[in-house]
Formats: sequence, C-alpha cells, structure tokens
Amino acid sequence: MSLLYEQLKNIYNVDDDILLKLREAISACEEHFKNIQHSVELNQLKVLRAFQINNVSDYHLNGSTGYGYGDSGRDTLEEVYASTFGGEKALVRAQIVSGTHAIAVGLLGNLDHGDEMICVTGTPYDTLLKVIGMHNEYGSLKYNGVIYKELPLTREQKIDIAGLKQLISPRTKLVYFQRSKGYQWRPSIMISELKEAIQYVKQQYPHIICMVDNCYGEFVETQTPCEIGADLTAGSLIKNPGGGLALSGGYLVGRVDLIERAAVRLSSPGIGLDVGASFNFNRSAYQGLFMSPLVVGEALKGAVLAAKFFQLLGYPVLPQYNEKRTDIIQAVQVGSREKMVAFCHGIQKACPLDSVFLPEPALLPGYDNEVIMAGGTFIQGSSIELSADGPIRPPFNIYLQGGLSFSHIKIGLALAAAEIKKLER
Ligand SMILES: *Cc1c(COP(=O)(O)O)cnc(C)c1O
Repeated sequence: MSLLYEQLKNIYNVDDDILLKLREAISACEEHFKNIQHSVELNQLKVLRAFQINNVSDYHLNGSTGYGYGDSGRDTLEEVYASTFGGEKALVRAQIVSGTHAIAVGLLGNLDHGDEMICVTGTPYDTLLKVIGMHNEYGSLKYNGVIYKELPLTREQKIDIAGLKQLISPRTKLVYFQRSKGYQWRPSIMISELKEAIQYVKQQYPHIICMVDNCYGEFVETQTPCEIGADLTAGSLIKNPGGGLALSGGYLVGRVDLIERAAVRLSSPGIGLDVGASFNFNRSAYQGLFMSPLVVGEALKGAVLAAKFFQLLGYPVLPQYNEKRTDIIQAVQVGSREKMVAFCHGIQKACPLDSVFLPEPALLPGYDNEVIMAGGTFIQGSSIELSADGPIRPPFNIYLQGGLSFSHIKIGLALAAAEIKKLER
C-alpha cells in the first residue's frame, strides 16, 4: 500500500477495499490519461499562439474603472478569445454574471418578435428554461414573442437531422445546440456530431444562426464549435476557460454582427461593446485562459478515474472511462437521495475551503428542483474546481466535475466513496 493510501486511511478512515479499488481503477486508466495529454498540448499551443498574435503585454493585465473607455486590456482579451475559439469577435466580460447570462444575452440579443428558435438537443439546461420562458416568465424569449420549438434526441441519443428537416420553417432564425449533458442522463454531443448537424443546417439554410451552449466543453477536444461552422458560442469563465483563476464572467464568441447585437443586449443601444470597466478582472481572465488547457486536462483525468472507480464500486456511470469525451462532466447514478448527499459530503470533506460544511439539498435561483452542491472553492460556485452536484430527483444522478489537480480529485473520490460506504454499514 503506498504512502498516500496509508495516509488516506489514517487521516480520513478510508477502508482498504476502497483503496484497492482506487488503485485498480488508476491502473486501468493509464492509457486514457495519455490521450488526454495529447489534447492538452495542442490546446496549450493554440492558446499560446492567440496570446502572441494579439501582442498581449504586461499593461493589458491591468483593469479600468468607471466607463472603462479605452480599456485595451479588455479589448485585447476579447481578441484573444476570438482567436482561441475561432470566431470573428468575442464579448468577454466580468459583467456577464454566469453561463446562463452569457447564453441569455446571445439569444435575447439576436431573436426578435416572431422569430423562431429550435433547440435540437432535447430539453435545455435547467436555468435556460426560464430564459426561454416555459411559463412565460417576464423578459423571457416567449414573453418577447419568440417562438420556441424543441427536438428530442433520437433513440440512439443522436441529433435528429431528419426530424429537424421537418421542423424548420420560414420563421426559423436560430438552431440551438447544447453540447454538455447538463443534469440529464445522456451522452454529451461530440464535435464530430455537432459538425454534421451544423453543416446540414448551413448548407440548406445559410441564413439560420447555429448557436452552441459550450459550457464545460472548452479544451476537451481540439476543435471548437466555431471552427466547425457554429455562428455563436457561449460559456462561463468560472468553468473551463477561466482555468480556476478568473474571478467571474462569461463569454460569447462568433460572428461579428451577432456579437454586436449581444453586446447591445448586455449594455445598451448606442453603447454595445465600447464601454464596461474591467476592475481587476483582466489579469485573472488572461492567466486563467492560459492555464485552462492544463487544468481541463487534470479535470478530465479525474473524470475518467471517477468513471472507472465508481463502475468498480458497482454504480452505473456516464460516460464510461474508455469513451471519447467532449466535456468534463462525469455522471454517477448513485440511486438515492441519501447517497447523493453522502457523495457530496465526501467531496466537501476533501475541499481546501469549508471542508467542515455539510451540504444539504436546497432550492436555488433558476432551478425548479431541490439541488445539492458540494464545493469548497476559491471562486464561489466555481465548477472547474472540484465540485459535485445534482437535482434531487430519480434516478438520483450525481454530476462530478472539475478539480485543479488530479491528485486532489483522487483524494475527493476516495472520500466520496467512503461516505457512501458509511450508509451501508
Ligand atoms: C453550467 C451550465 C450552464 C450555465 O450555468 P451557470 O451556472 O449559469 O453558469 C448552461 N448550460 C450548461 C449545459 C451548463 O452545464
């Protein structure tokens, strides 16, 4: 038994059976860790080049106050994002409060009364339902007169291109793809599959906007949605592209006209992209983006290990440890409310901050079910840091993500398994 395992046993009371399974899981994963290293390297080069071709300099790291006129750090950061993610232009702001806000700004800015939006990856992420306006919420797309249609995935859990053909109408303005699984038990959408669907739409209907919710997908594969034809993508800086360092924020990358319209929605007509103080956001956003390929690689290794480890412990997992990945999310079907809570207690115990807290299920803004969340993170709510969550509803899935270092994730997994095992005694 290695020294780490001895310590886990002595300090945290993790039993031998769990530690043996953890060791077995690690050896089974070695080969897959190597593949991850391959994409880390290519993505690191891509980000480095984006910094270099945009001449990022020391003074760009400083922020601005007030109106933020002439904030070249802010403007250059947006150029770096556009280069990295393969779009014409980007909007990257601390004033974008979350991933939901980034997506909302993209949708509300680009869809007018009478326009139609089709979501082709089934029901979108929980917080987006209120942006769409499933109950006609004030200020939502539906409230504003946008028509919303939804296309479930096929029985094989793929995008239903034949179904889309039927659904597109002369009013269709935007087709929406959610890459990551959110709180669903379905495979995430690989870039190759996105590409096929987007190419179909763009060939038949070049005027239709293809928008991708890119949350948790950044730097997992080596191609980005914009590089394979998407017109607009959006995501959160307290997930992958912030590298665990960005203090807050969201981004949109894509076609210049679409970004400009989103910016008008974010700030105001007549202001758009030109105004907005960056305070002390720039330094953390630049350095976080630079670190992101590495950090995403660590999180991915942790996700692969979690898949094998919890499979060995007898739980259904999605994806399997040896499947191709397009996001950092690992779902584990623990099967009961009590086990979801125990899993989260274990992850919380392994956190650098607030490790003595005991997470409890609660209602959160934007969500319809009670949700449990674990994470003692440096940036509040950051899910590129080690964290686990899930809505309390059958079949009781935990969604694990993040971790700034693989070693930390390993410890977290051991403690999560140990907490679940306590229930079985
Ligand atoms: C995290 C996430 C979002 C946005 O969530 P925020 O908490 O608002 O950042 C949107 N879509 C998906 C698929 C996500 O995973």
